[in-house]
Amino acid sequence: MSNITLTIIKPDAVAKAHTGKIIDHITSAGFKVRAMKMIFLSEREAGAFYDVHRERPFFGDLVRFMTSGPVVPMILEKENAVADFRTLIGATNPANAAEGTIRKLYAESIEANAIHGSDSDENALREAGFFFSELERF
Ligand code: GDP
Repeated sequence: MSNITLTIIKPDAVAKAHTGKIIDHITSAGFKVRAMKMIFLSEREAGAFYDVHRERPFFGDLVRFMTSGPVVPMILEKENAVADFRTLIGATNPANAAEGTIRKLYAESIEANAIHGSDSDENALREAGFFFSELERF
């Protein structure tokens, strides 16, 4: 089992100045930040990141949303990182997210849902490599 997960604070949360509060929420829950940057994804990059959803009806909207402003990807480390982080962020649709979760607190909609969290150890490694080189990890 890997102890890392990859998160992205999405454009809606960055635009609303929630970045600092979300990072505090994450580190207060015991996650260590091993890599972090602010970037503005191109359509090609956002499409590549969400390649698994390419055939979904919402793919075009998702790429437009993820390229609507800067995002803050981070590699996080903690025991059982992937599962614990999914619990911390809550359900994809904030209407279904548990009280106190990051999406319940900061998300607007099923699309503009404030934050990403890897859904498996395998994807966490792939997504960490997508955003960060070895030189950018600490
Ligand atoms: P996650 O693992 O909880 O992020 O959810 P998914 O992997 O299923 O979806 C990836 C992202 O696509 C979500 O976080 C949302 O930003 C977006 N998304 C998911 N479902 C929908 C939908 O039905 N409509 C739209 N517009 N966006 C969606």
